[in-house]
Amino acid sequence: MQLNLQREKPTCNCGVFGIYGSANASLETYYGLHALQHRGQEACGIITKNISSKGNPHFSVHKGEGLVTEVFDDHTIFQNKLIGNAAIGHNRYSTTGSAQSSKNIQPFIVNYRLGNLAVAHNGNLTNEKLIREELVNEGSIFQTTSDTEVILHLIARSRLNDQIEQVKEAIEKIEGAFSLVLMTDTKLIGARDSHGFRPLVIAKLNGAYIIASETCAFDILSAEFIREVQPGEIVVIDDEVLKTGIIKSYHLSQKSEKKHHCIFEYIYFSRPDSFIFGHNVDKMRRRLGKVLAINHPVHNEGDEKVIVISVPDSSNTTALGYQTQLEKLGVNCKLEIGLIRSHYIGRTFIQPGQANREIGVKIKFNTVKGVLEGRTVVLVDDSIVRGTTSKQLVKLIREANPKSIHLRISSSPITHPCFYGMDFPSKEELFANNFNSNIEEMGKYLGVDSLEYLTNDEMLEAVSEAGKDNFCYACFSGKYPTKVDLNFKKEIYEI
Ligand code: SF4
Repeated sequence: MQLNLQREKPTCNCGVFGIYGSANASLETYYGLHALQHRGQEACGIITKNISSKGNPHFSVHKGEGLVTEVFDDHTIFQNKLIGNAAIGHNRYSTTGSAQSSKNIQPFIVNYRLGNLAVAHNGNLTNEKLIREELVNEGSIFQTTSDTEVILHLIARSRLNDQIEQVKEAIEKIEGAFSLVLMTDTKLIGARDSHGFRPLVIAKLNGAYIIASETCAFDILSAEFIREVQPGEIVVIDDEVLKTGIIKSYHLSQKSEKKHHCIFEYIYFSRPDSFIFGHNVDKMRRRLGKVLAINHPVHNEGDEKVIVISVPDSSNTTALGYQTQLEKLGVNCKLEIGLIRSHYIGRTFIQPGQANREIGVKIKFNTVKGVLEGRTVVLVDDSIVRGTTSKQLVKLIREANPKSIHLRISSSPITHPCFYGMDFPSKEELFANNFNSNIEEMGKYLGVDSLEYLTNDEMLEAVSEAGKDNFCYACFSGKYPTKVDLNFKKEIYEI
Protein backbone atom coordinates (compact mmCIF):
# COMPACT_ATOMS: atom_id res chain seq x y z
CA MET A 1 0.00 0.00 0.00
CA GLN A 2 1.33 3.39 -0.91
CA LEU A 3 0.66 6.22 1.48
CA ASN A 4 0.75 9.74 0.18
CA LEU A 5 1.42 11.63 3.39
CA GLN A 6 0.85 14.93 1.63
CA ARG A 7 -2.89 14.15 1.72
CA GLU A 8 -3.33 14.39 5.46
CA LYS A 9 -4.24 18.00 4.81
CA PRO A 10 -6.75 19.26 2.27
CA THR A 11 -4.77 18.99 -0.87
CA CYS A 12 -4.74 21.99 -3.02
CA ASN A 13 -5.15 23.15 -6.02
CA CYS A 14 -2.41 23.73 -8.53
CA GLY A 15 0.39 26.16 -9.24
CA VAL A 16 0.73 28.09 -12.50
CA PHE A 17 3.63 30.03 -13.96
CA GLY A 18 4.16 31.88 -17.26
CA ILE A 19 7.00 33.99 -18.62
CA TYR A 20 7.36 36.08 -21.80
CA GLY A 21 10.45 37.75 -23.23
CA SER A 22 13.32 35.81 -21.66
CA ALA A 23 16.09 33.80 -23.32
CA ASN A 24 15.98 31.38 -20.36
CA ALA A 25 12.21 31.01 -20.24
CA SER A 26 12.09 27.25 -19.61
CA LEU A 27 14.74 27.23 -16.89
CA GLU A 28 13.07 30.16 -15.14
CA THR A 29 9.75 28.32 -15.36
CA TYR A 30 11.44 25.29 -13.79
CA TYR A 31 12.62 27.40 -10.85
CA GLY A 32 9.20 29.02 -10.56
CA LEU A 33 7.48 25.63 -10.45
CA HIS A 34 10.02 24.52 -7.86
CA ALA A 35 8.95 27.41 -5.60
CA LEU A 36 5.28 26.53 -6.22
CA GLN A 37 5.73 22.82 -5.51
CA HIS A 38 3.56 23.03 -2.38
CA ARG A 39 0.54 23.74 -4.62
CA GLY A 40 0.69 20.35 -6.34
CA GLN A 41 2.99 17.35 -6.15
CA GLU A 42 1.38 14.79 -8.45
CA ALA A 43 2.67 15.97 -11.79
CA CYS A 44 4.08 18.95 -13.61
CA GLY A 45 4.91 20.23 -17.06
CA ILE A 46 6.41 23.04 -19.11
CA ILE A 47 5.55 24.21 -22.63
CA THR A 48 7.82 26.65 -24.44
CA LYS A 49 7.33 28.78 -27.54
CA ASN A 50 10.11 28.96 -30.08
CA ILE A 51 10.41 30.23 -33.66
CA SER A 52 11.48 27.47 -36.08
CA SER A 53 14.19 27.90 -38.75
CA LYS A 54 11.36 28.51 -41.23
CA GLY A 55 10.06 31.36 -39.11
CA ASN A 56 7.04 29.49 -37.73
CA PRO A 57 6.09 29.43 -34.05
CA HIS A 58 6.76 26.03 -32.51
CA PHE A 59 5.61 24.79 -29.09
CA SER A 60 7.68 22.17 -27.21
CA VAL A 61 6.30 20.15 -24.32
CA HIS A 62 7.73 18.17 -21.44
CA LYS A 63 5.40 16.76 -18.78
CA GLY A 64 5.36 13.90 -16.34
CA GLU A 65 4.20 12.50 -13.04
CA GLY A 66 6.13 13.44 -9.92
CA LEU A 67 7.86 16.40 -8.35
CA VAL A 68 9.51 19.11 -10.43
CA THR A 69 12.98 17.72 -9.69
CA GLU A 70 11.86 14.24 -10.80
CA VAL A 71 10.12 15.27 -14.02
CA PHE A 72 12.95 17.62 -15.03
CA ASP A 73 15.89 15.50 -13.86
CA ASP A 74 17.77 15.86 -17.17
CA HIS A 75 19.13 19.41 -17.37
CA THR A 76 19.94 19.09 -21.10
CA ILE A 77 16.22 19.32 -21.78
CA PHE A 78 16.41 23.07 -21.17
CA GLN A 79 19.02 23.54 -23.90
CA ASN A 80 17.85 20.93 -26.40
CA LYS A 81 14.10 20.68 -26.15
CA LEU A 82 12.44 23.43 -24.13
CA ILE A 83 13.82 26.37 -26.05
CA GLY A 84 12.26 29.72 -26.79
CA ASN A 85 11.61 33.07 -25.14
CA ALA A 86 8.23 32.26 -23.63
CA ALA A 87 6.97 29.39 -21.49
CA ILE A 88 4.15 28.32 -19.23
CA GLY A 89 4.27 25.67 -16.51
CA HIS A 90 1.97 23.87 -14.12
CA ASN A 91 2.20 21.90 -10.88
CA ARG A 92 -0.71 19.53 -10.65
CA TYR A 93 -2.77 18.16 -7.90
CA SER A 94 -5.94 16.65 -9.35
CA THR A 95 -9.10 18.28 -8.08
CA THR A 96 -11.06 17.20 -11.14
CA GLY A 97 -10.12 14.59 -13.66
CA SER A 98 -8.54 11.29 -12.86
CA ALA A 99 -5.24 11.59 -10.99
CA GLN A 100 -4.22 8.35 -12.68
CA SER A 101 -4.54 9.60 -16.24
CA SER A 102 -1.31 11.10 -17.55
CA LYS A 103 -3.44 12.82 -20.20
CA ASN A 104 -4.62 15.17 -17.45
CA ILE A 105 -1.15 16.59 -16.79
CA GLN A 106 -1.01 20.27 -17.67
CA PRO A 107 -0.24 22.56 -19.40
CA PHE A 108 -2.58 21.49 -22.23
CA ILE A 109 -1.86 22.44 -25.79
CA VAL A 110 -3.91 22.59 -29.01
CA ASN A 111 -3.31 23.83 -32.49
CA TYR A 112 -6.36 25.59 -33.93
CA ARG A 113 -7.47 28.11 -36.55
CA LEU A 114 -5.35 30.96 -35.10
CA GLY A 115 -2.26 28.90 -34.22
CA ASN A 116 -0.95 27.25 -31.08
CA LEU A 117 -2.65 27.66 -27.74
CA ALA A 118 -1.52 26.33 -24.35
CA VAL A 119 -3.19 26.67 -20.96
CA ALA A 120 -2.39 26.04 -17.29
CA HIS A 121 -5.22 26.34 -14.75
CA ASN A 122 -5.52 26.69 -10.98
CA GLY A 123 -9.05 26.30 -9.59
CA ASN A 124 -12.20 24.35 -10.41
CA LEU A 125 -14.97 25.26 -12.81
CA THR A 126 -18.43 24.80 -11.35
CA ASN A 127 -20.32 24.60 -14.65
CA GLU A 128 -17.80 22.37 -16.44
CA LYS A 129 -20.15 19.38 -16.63
CA LEU A 130 -22.83 21.41 -18.36
CA ILE A 131 -20.43 22.97 -20.87
CA ARG A 132 -18.73 19.65 -21.56
CA GLU A 133 -22.07 17.98 -22.28
CA GLU A 134 -23.05 20.79 -24.65
CA LEU A 135 -19.71 20.59 -26.45
CA VAL A 136 -19.83 16.80 -26.72
CA ASN A 137 -23.38 17.00 -28.09
CA GLU A 138 -22.12 19.43 -30.70
CA GLY A 139 -19.35 17.03 -31.75
CA SER A 140 -16.33 17.99 -29.63
CA ILE A 141 -13.97 15.18 -28.77
CA PHE A 142 -12.26 15.49 -25.39
CA GLN A 143 -8.75 14.18 -24.79
CA THR A 144 -8.77 14.51 -21.00
CA THR A 145 -11.14 14.39 -18.04
CA SER A 146 -9.93 17.74 -16.73
CA ASP A 147 -12.24 20.75 -16.48
CA THR A 148 -9.44 22.85 -17.96
CA GLU A 149 -9.90 21.29 -21.38
CA VAL A 150 -13.30 22.92 -21.81
CA ILE A 151 -11.54 26.31 -21.79
CA LEU A 152 -9.42 25.29 -24.78
CA HIS A 153 -12.49 24.00 -26.61
CA LEU A 154 -14.43 27.20 -25.98
CA ILE A 155 -11.55 29.34 -27.29
CA ALA A 156 -10.87 27.12 -30.31
CA ARG A 157 -14.56 27.02 -31.33
CA SER A 158 -15.00 30.79 -31.18
CA ARG A 159 -16.00 32.42 -34.48
CA LEU A 160 -14.31 35.68 -33.46
CA ASN A 161 -11.05 36.60 -35.18
CA ASP A 162 -9.19 38.29 -32.35
CA GLN A 163 -7.54 35.97 -29.84
CA ILE A 164 -8.09 38.24 -26.86
CA GLU A 165 -11.75 38.50 -27.75
CA GLN A 166 -11.87 34.71 -28.08
CA VAL A 167 -10.36 34.24 -24.63
CA LYS A 168 -12.75 36.81 -23.19
CA GLU A 169 -15.74 35.15 -24.84
CA ALA A 170 -14.68 31.72 -23.52
CA ILE A 171 -14.01 32.94 -20.00
CA GLU A 172 -17.36 34.65 -19.78
CA LYS A 173 -19.01 31.25 -20.28
CA ILE A 174 -17.20 29.48 -17.47
CA GLU A 175 -18.07 29.76 -13.80
CA GLY A 176 -16.24 28.94 -10.59
CA ALA A 177 -12.59 29.38 -9.72
CA PHE A 178 -9.87 29.98 -12.25
CA SER A 179 -6.49 31.61 -12.27
CA LEU A 180 -5.15 30.90 -15.75
CA VAL A 181 -2.00 31.40 -17.75
CA LEU A 182 -2.35 30.94 -21.50
CA MET A 183 0.29 31.10 -24.20
CA THR A 184 -0.38 31.77 -27.88
CA ASP A 185 2.08 32.21 -30.77
CA THR A 186 2.47 35.88 -29.86
CA LYS A 187 1.23 36.40 -26.31
CA LEU A 188 1.26 35.39 -22.67
CA ILE A 189 -2.19 35.85 -21.14
CA GLY A 190 -3.21 35.79 -17.47
CA ALA A 191 -6.85 35.64 -16.37
CA ARG A 192 -8.61 35.47 -13.02
CA ASP A 193 -12.25 34.79 -12.21
CA SER A 194 -14.28 37.73 -11.00
CA HIS A 195 -14.51 36.35 -7.43
CA GLY A 196 -10.72 36.18 -7.15
CA PHE A 197 -10.84 32.76 -5.46
CA ARG A 198 -7.24 31.88 -6.30
CA PRO A 199 -4.27 34.26 -6.35
CA LEU A 200 -2.49 35.38 -9.51
CA VAL A 201 0.41 37.83 -9.48
CA ILE A 202 2.63 39.66 -12.02
CA ALA A 203 6.36 40.45 -11.94
CA LYS A 204 9.13 41.78 -14.15
CA LEU A 205 12.50 40.13 -14.67
CA ASN A 206 15.17 41.93 -16.71
CA GLY A 207 12.64 43.18 -19.24
CA ALA A 208 10.63 39.93 -19.30
CA TYR A 209 7.23 39.52 -17.60
CA ILE A 210 6.04 36.71 -15.34
CA ILE A 211 2.55 35.70 -14.22
CA ALA A 212 2.37 33.15 -11.38
CA SER A 213 0.22 31.79 -8.56
CA GLU A 214 2.26 33.25 -5.71
CA THR A 215 5.06 35.76 -5.27
CA CYS A 216 7.41 33.10 -3.84
CA ALA A 217 7.87 32.06 -7.49
CA PHE A 218 9.31 35.54 -8.17
CA ASP A 219 11.69 35.60 -5.22
CA ILE A 220 13.54 32.50 -6.36
CA LEU A 221 14.35 34.40 -9.60
CA SER A 222 14.90 37.80 -7.97
CA ALA A 223 12.04 39.07 -10.13
CA GLU A 224 10.32 42.32 -9.19
CA PHE A 225 6.69 42.00 -8.09
CA ILE A 226 4.49 44.49 -9.93
CA ARG A 227 0.92 43.79 -8.91
CA GLU A 228 -1.83 41.18 -8.69
CA VAL A 229 -4.08 40.28 -11.61
CA GLN A 230 -7.39 41.74 -10.42
CA PRO A 231 -10.49 39.59 -10.05
CA GLY A 232 -12.25 39.59 -13.43
CA GLU A 233 -9.17 40.89 -15.25
CA ILE A 234 -7.35 39.54 -18.29
CA VAL A 235 -3.76 40.74 -18.73
CA VAL A 236 -1.77 40.36 -21.93
CA ILE A 237 2.00 40.44 -22.42
CA ASP A 238 3.31 40.61 -26.01
CA ASP A 239 6.25 42.16 -27.89
CA GLU A 240 4.60 45.57 -27.73
CA VAL A 241 4.38 45.33 -23.91
CA LEU A 242 8.08 44.43 -23.78
CA LYS A 243 8.80 47.71 -25.62
CA THR A 244 6.34 50.05 -23.89
CA GLY A 245 6.32 48.51 -20.42
CA ILE A 246 2.53 48.97 -20.31
CA ILE A 247 0.67 45.74 -19.53
CA LYS A 248 -2.50 45.35 -21.60
CA SER A 249 -5.53 44.87 -19.40
CA TYR A 250 -9.11 43.83 -20.22
CA HIS A 251 -12.07 43.24 -17.95
CA LEU A 252 -14.79 40.65 -18.00
CA SER A 253 -18.26 42.10 -18.43
CA GLN A 254 -19.86 39.65 -15.98
CA LYS A 255 -18.49 40.66 -12.62
CA SER A 256 -19.06 39.34 -9.16
CA GLU A 257 -20.19 42.20 -6.96
CA LYS A 258 -17.88 41.01 -4.21
CA LYS A 259 -14.49 39.38 -3.99
CA HIS A 260 -14.37 35.87 -2.60
CA HIS A 261 -10.74 35.09 -1.91
CA CYS A 262 -10.22 31.59 -0.55
CA ILE A 263 -9.55 32.06 3.16
CA PHE A 264 -7.75 28.73 3.19
CA GLU A 265 -4.94 30.27 1.13
CA TYR A 266 -4.12 32.36 4.19
CA ILE A 267 -4.83 29.58 6.71
CA TYR A 268 -2.80 26.84 5.09
CA PHE A 269 -2.19 26.68 1.34
CA SER A 270 -0.02 29.58 0.29
CA ARG A 271 3.56 29.86 1.42
CA PRO A 272 4.05 32.29 4.32
CA ASP A 273 6.71 34.14 2.32
CA SER A 274 4.18 34.98 -0.43
CA PHE A 275 2.16 38.15 -0.89
CA ILE A 276 -1.40 37.47 -2.07
CA PHE A 277 -4.82 39.15 -1.80
CA GLY A 278 -3.05 42.42 -0.98
CA HIS A 279 -1.19 41.16 2.10
CA ASN A 280 1.71 39.05 3.27
CA VAL A 281 0.60 35.51 4.09
CA ASP A 282 2.99 35.51 7.04
CA LYS A 283 1.23 38.51 8.57
CA MET A 284 -2.21 36.94 8.15
CA ARG A 285 -1.10 33.64 9.60
CA ARG A 286 0.37 35.39 12.66
CA ARG A 287 -2.93 37.26 13.02
CA LEU A 288 -4.81 33.95 12.99
CA GLY A 289 -2.52 32.77 15.80
CA LYS A 290 -3.02 36.02 17.69
CA VAL A 291 -6.82 35.87 17.51
CA LEU A 292 -6.67 32.20 18.50
CA ALA A 293 -4.67 33.10 21.63
CA ILE A 294 -6.99 35.98 22.55
CA ASN A 295 -10.11 33.85 22.30
CA HIS A 296 -8.75 30.44 23.26
CA PRO A 297 -5.78 30.88 25.60
CA VAL A 298 -4.13 28.18 27.70
CA HIS A 299 -3.13 29.37 31.17
CA ASN A 300 -0.14 28.31 33.24
CA GLU A 301 -0.41 26.97 36.75
CA GLY A 302 1.84 28.57 39.36
CA ASP A 303 5.23 29.45 37.92
CA GLU A 304 5.22 26.73 35.27
CA LYS A 305 5.94 27.66 31.66
CA VAL A 306 3.41 26.70 28.97
CA ILE A 307 5.11 25.17 25.95
CA VAL A 308 3.66 26.19 22.56
CA ILE A 309 4.57 23.94 19.61
CA SER A 310 3.40 23.85 16.01
CA VAL A 311 2.57 21.03 13.66
CA PRO A 312 5.41 21.75 11.24
CA ASP A 313 5.71 23.31 8.74
CA SER A 314 2.35 24.80 7.85
CA SER A 315 1.49 25.92 11.39
CA ASN A 316 4.87 27.39 12.35
CA THR A 317 3.89 31.00 11.72
CA THR A 318 0.51 30.60 13.41
CA ALA A 319 2.17 29.12 16.51
CA LEU A 320 4.52 32.11 16.59
CA GLY A 321 1.53 34.47 16.53
CA TYR A 322 -0.23 32.41 19.22
CA GLN A 323 2.73 32.35 21.61
CA THR A 324 3.54 36.05 21.15
CA GLN A 325 -0.03 36.99 22.00
CA LEU A 326 -0.26 34.52 24.89
CA GLU A 327 2.80 36.16 26.42
CA LYS A 328 1.17 39.58 25.97
CA LEU A 329 -1.82 38.22 27.89
CA GLY A 330 0.52 37.55 30.80
CA VAL A 331 0.85 33.80 30.40
CA ASN A 332 4.32 32.46 31.16
CA CYS A 333 4.98 30.61 27.90
CA LYS A 334 7.64 29.68 25.40
CA LEU A 335 7.62 28.68 21.72
CA GLU A 336 9.50 25.43 21.29
CA ILE A 337 10.23 22.95 18.53
CA GLY A 338 8.52 19.87 19.92
CA LEU A 339 7.86 18.02 16.68
CA ILE A 340 10.46 17.27 14.05
CA ARG A 341 9.18 16.66 10.56
CA SER A 342 10.99 14.55 8.01
CA HIS A 343 11.09 16.26 4.64
CA TYR A 344 12.20 13.19 2.76
CA ILE A 345 9.11 10.97 2.90
CA GLY A 346 7.83 11.36 -0.66
CA ARG A 347 5.50 8.46 -1.34
CA THR A 348 6.05 5.86 1.33
CA PHE A 349 4.97 2.24 1.32
CA ILE A 350 3.17 0.91 4.38
CA GLN A 351 1.17 -2.22 5.14
CA PRO A 352 -2.61 -1.96 5.62
CA GLY A 353 -3.94 -2.13 9.20
CA GLN A 354 -4.23 0.07 12.26
CA ALA A 355 -0.76 -0.55 13.69
CA ASN A 356 0.79 0.30 10.39
CA ARG A 357 -1.26 3.43 9.92
CA GLU A 358 0.53 4.79 12.98
CA ILE A 359 3.74 4.21 11.10
CA GLY A 360 2.46 6.80 8.64
CA VAL A 361 2.63 9.55 11.26
CA LYS A 362 5.89 8.24 12.73
CA ILE A 363 7.52 8.31 9.32
CA LYS A 364 6.65 11.97 9.07
CA PHE A 365 7.00 13.22 12.68
CA ASN A 366 8.98 12.57 15.80
CA THR A 367 8.84 14.33 19.17
CA VAL A 368 11.60 16.14 21.01
CA LYS A 369 10.98 14.41 24.32
CA GLY A 370 13.08 16.74 26.49
CA VAL A 371 10.89 19.67 25.35
CA LEU A 372 7.56 17.97 26.11
CA GLU A 373 8.09 15.78 29.16
CA GLY A 374 6.13 16.96 32.21
CA ARG A 375 5.00 20.18 30.45
CA THR A 376 1.68 21.80 29.67
CA VAL A 377 1.80 21.67 25.87
CA VAL A 378 -0.23 23.76 23.39
CA LEU A 379 -0.22 22.13 19.97
CA VAL A 380 -1.15 24.65 17.26
CA ASP A 381 -2.47 23.33 13.94
CA ASP A 382 -4.23 25.06 11.05
CA SER A 383 -7.06 22.62 10.35
CA ILE A 384 -8.39 19.11 10.90
CA VAL A 385 -9.81 17.24 7.95
CA ARG A 386 -10.43 13.56 8.75
CA GLY A 387 -9.01 13.60 12.28
CA THR A 388 -7.10 10.34 11.94
CA THR A 389 -3.69 11.99 11.60
CA SER A 390 -4.37 14.43 14.45
CA LYS A 391 -5.34 11.50 16.68
CA GLN A 392 -2.11 9.67 15.88
CA LEU A 393 -0.08 12.82 16.36
CA VAL A 394 -1.60 13.37 19.82
CA LYS A 395 -0.81 9.74 20.67
CA LEU A 396 2.78 10.31 19.58
CA ILE A 397 3.06 13.41 21.78
CA ARG A 398 1.53 11.48 24.72
CA GLU A 399 4.41 9.01 24.45
CA ALA A 400 6.71 11.90 25.41
CA ASN A 401 4.84 12.18 28.77
CA PRO A 402 3.63 15.79 28.75
CA LYS A 403 1.55 16.99 31.71
CA SER A 404 -1.32 17.94 29.37
CA ILE A 405 -1.99 18.55 25.66
CA HIS A 406 -4.16 21.44 24.47
CA LEU A 407 -4.93 21.49 20.76
CA ARG A 408 -5.67 24.88 19.18
CA ILE A 409 -6.87 25.12 15.57
CA SER A 410 -6.48 28.35 13.58
CA SER A 411 -9.61 27.79 11.48
CA SER A 412 -13.15 26.81 12.30
CA PRO A 413 -14.31 23.19 11.84
CA ILE A 414 -14.43 22.08 8.18
CA THR A 415 -17.97 20.92 7.50
CA HIS A 416 -18.48 21.26 3.74
CA PRO A 417 -16.67 20.29 0.55
CA CYS A 418 -14.90 22.82 -1.65
CA PHE A 419 -16.00 23.32 -5.26
CA TYR A 420 -13.29 25.85 -6.06
CA GLY A 421 -10.12 23.82 -6.26
CA MET A 422 -9.36 22.28 -2.85
CA ASP A 423 -9.69 18.56 -2.46
CA PHE A 424 -11.54 17.77 0.74
CA PRO A 425 -12.98 14.32 1.32
CA SER A 426 -16.75 13.80 1.14
CA LYS A 427 -18.95 15.53 3.71
CA GLU A 428 -19.40 12.24 5.57
CA GLU A 429 -15.64 11.78 5.97
CA LEU A 430 -15.03 15.22 7.46
CA PHE A 431 -14.07 14.96 11.12
CA ALA A 432 -16.30 17.78 12.36
CA ASN A 433 -19.36 16.31 10.64
CA ASN A 434 -18.88 12.95 12.33
CA PHE A 435 -19.27 14.70 15.68
CA ASN A 436 -21.87 17.29 14.61
CA SER A 437 -19.19 19.89 15.36
CA ASN A 438 -19.38 18.97 19.07
CA ILE A 439 -15.92 20.20 20.01
CA GLU A 440 -15.87 18.55 23.42
CA GLU A 441 -16.57 15.15 21.87
CA MET A 442 -14.04 15.80 19.12
CA GLY A 443 -11.40 16.58 21.75
CA LYS A 444 -12.20 13.35 23.61
CA TYR A 445 -11.82 11.35 20.40
CA LEU A 446 -8.46 12.95 19.68
CA GLY A 447 -7.28 12.29 23.23
CA VAL A 448 -6.41 15.88 24.13
CA ASP A 449 -7.04 17.66 27.43
CA SER A 450 -8.71 20.50 25.57
CA LEU A 451 -9.58 21.36 21.99
CA GLU A 452 -10.52 24.79 20.69
CA TYR A 453 -11.13 26.10 17.19
CA LEU A 454 -11.54 29.63 15.91
CA THR A 455 -15.18 30.44 15.22
CA ASN A 456 -16.13 31.70 11.74
CA ASP A 457 -16.38 35.25 13.11
CA GLU A 458 -12.99 35.02 14.81
CA MET A 459 -11.42 33.61 11.64
CA LEU A 460 -12.84 36.45 9.53
CA GLU A 461 -11.79 38.97 12.18
CA ALA A 462 -8.21 37.68 11.94
CA VAL A 463 -8.05 38.39 8.18
CA SER A 464 -10.12 41.57 8.34
CA GLU A 465 -7.24 43.76 7.15
CA ALA A 466 -7.87 42.20 3.74
CA GLY A 467 -11.60 42.98 4.10
CA LYS A 468 -13.84 40.76 6.22
CA ASP A 469 -16.37 40.51 3.38
CA ASN A 470 -13.80 39.65 0.74
CA PHE A 471 -13.50 35.97 1.55
CA CYS A 472 -14.99 32.65 0.62
CA TYR A 473 -15.30 30.47 3.72
CA ALA A 474 -17.85 28.04 2.36
CA CYS A 475 -16.07 24.91 3.59
CA PHE A 476 -16.62 26.21 7.13
CA SER A 477 -20.11 27.63 6.67
CA GLY A 478 -21.76 26.00 3.65
CA LYS A 479 -22.36 29.50 2.27
CA TYR A 480 -21.12 29.05 -1.29
CA PRO A 481 -20.65 32.32 -3.14
CA THR A 482 -21.71 30.77 -6.48
CA LYS A 483 -24.21 28.19 -7.66
CA VAL A 484 -22.71 24.73 -7.08
CA ASP A 485 -23.76 21.19 -7.91
CA LEU A 486 -23.89 19.54 -4.49
CA ASN A 487 -24.00 16.12 -6.18
CA PHE A 488 -20.78 16.77 -8.08
CA LYS A 489 -18.45 13.78 -8.09
CA LYS A 490 -14.82 13.84 -9.13
CA GLU A 491 -13.75 11.56 -11.99
CA ILE A 492 -17.04 11.28 -13.76
CA TYR A 493 -15.46 10.85 -17.14
CA GLU A 494 -12.71 8.25 -17.16
CA ILE A 495 -10.43 8.32 -20.16
S1 SF4 B 1 -14.75 26.43 0.04
FE1 SF4 B 1 -13.02 26.65 1.49
S2 SF4 B 1 -11.21 25.87 0.42
FE2 SF4 B 1 -12.83 26.21 -1.11
S3 SF4 B 1 -12.45 28.30 -1.91
FE3 SF4 B 1 -13.93 28.51 -0.24
S4 SF4 B 1 -12.64 28.84 1.59
FE4 SF4 B 1 -11.31 28.05 0.00
